[in-house]
Amino acid sequence: MRVPSVSLHRTSYAHTLASTPNPIGLSYLPSHESSAWDMYLQQIDRVTPFLGDLTRWVETLRRPKRALIVDVPIHMDDGRIAHFEGFRVQHNTSRGPGKGGVRFHQDVTLPEVMALSAWMSVKNAALNLPFGGAKGGVRVDPRLLSEGELERVARRYTSEIGVIIGPNKDIPAPDVNTNDRVMAWMMDTYSVNQGTTSTGVVTGKPIALGGSLGRREATGRGVFVVTLEAAKKLGFEIANAQIAIQGFGNVGSVAAQLFAHAGAHIAAVQDHTGTVYNQSGLGVEALIAHVAVHGGVFGFKDAQCMDKDAFWDVPCDILVPAALETQITSLNAQRIQARLIVEGANGPTTPQADDILAARNILVVPDVIANAGGVTVSYFEWVQDFSSFFWNEEEINARLTHTMQAAFASVWQVAQEKQVSLRTAAFIVGCTRILQARALRGLYP
Ligand code: NAD
Repeated sequence: MRVPSVSLHRTSYAHTLASTPNPIGLSYLPSHESSAWDMYLQQIDRVTPFLGDLTRWVETLRRPKRALIVDVPIHMDDGRIAHFEGFRVQHNTSRGPGKGGVRFHQDVTLPEVMALSAWMSVKNAALNLPFGGAKGGVRVDPRLLSEGELERVARRYTSEIGVIIGPNKDIPAPDVNTNDRVMAWMMDTYSVNQGTTSTGVVTGKPIALGGSLGRREATGRGVFVVTLEAAKKLGFEIANAQIAIQGFGNVGSVAAQLFAHAGAHIAAVQDHTGTVYNQSGLGVEALIAHVAVHGGVFGFKDAQCMDKDAFWDVPCDILVPAALETQITSLNAQRIQARLIVEGANGPTTPQADDILAARNILVVPDVIANAGGVTVSYFEWVQDFSSFFWNEEEINARLTHTMQAAFASVWQVAQEKQVSLRTAAFIVGCTRILQARALRGLYP
């Protein structure tokens, strides 16, 4: 059994806030660049001039509606009691119940979860899904826990946030280091506490518990769909394109499979264990099998190992960040070789890097559109759970493709009309919808 170090027992809100400037612990993030929450606020500054009369409501977007900090105590296998810090933030619920994933990661902080919840608000509105934005997280390294300990963290966390979640209030889903297994524990815990079987309280569940076909692959598939749309606009084919992917988990690995299937070459993949490179294309299925056995891409045969930082210099047509926030900064944006960046991750590009990439004529398809495939099929799952009528996979994939293409087209059009980046265009579409709902509802009392 692996036992976490004693530092995992420290629960400190002050510590959380103290780490705000660099919530995911990236020592190379330039000090003048921002934490995820600061990045989000700068993105709101950039959209504000385009909001017209709705500007009087914009402060709504600059603060979360509700933020819950919870203590998550569990029995460790060796008999000790460990405490973990958990969060659930509902950024905005003007358009519908909160919706957003739950992250288990050793660097999770409140400001990070605030930013992730805010991006969910904008994403759900930009896609015109009837949801607000929410996100959750537990500050824990799940790799240091046994299966039983992980289950106890998931269940106690769910029980603690149970006061604010529910099928009509706020619906969690998987994010970094959480999956359908964790969703099953969350659904069961909520259901037992409520004395009912509440399948609609989470999405990304196993199929046998009311999960949706196609949900596991949905975010990667959405990344693939918008990449095709963006490549068309730039006038190049996916077949034979060189692609570099950071993050080879749920999002990165599924996107890689679809790209490879379409004839692209996955030239480089980076994850938390290392970076692998093969100019003629990595074998994606073999790499997935390697990760399943070894826990990461490091040591993959048929590839060169590469220095972590050299990843940003890889010659490629398309770069897909699909790991964590604040990865593309003013320090590496100048070096990126791609002509197209498609953000599988949430918040991978700082505003300073956005400006450098725009000046270099590199197109960025922003997170709030590019990775919206997951929440789109989560919406389908939620609808299926409510109606107790389940769709086949072809139907789900067809609806997903249509939704992603339509969202990309409308954001592209706004970007052309207003002469702004795709990110600002997506924020114009999303924030306008949120604030229209806010204004129509009015203030209570
Ligand atoms: P995951 O846990 O399945 O995979 C995360 C991947 O990132 C792993 O390959 C891990 O090794 C890698 N990684 C972690 N730290 C890294 C580092 N410092 N450098 C390089 N790689 C690192 O998570 P996921 O669900 O694939 O999520 C990835 C990103 O996509 C996150 O930003 C998440 O918020 C976003 N996202 C996920 C979904 C979803 O449906 N899962 C939906 C929308 C957005």
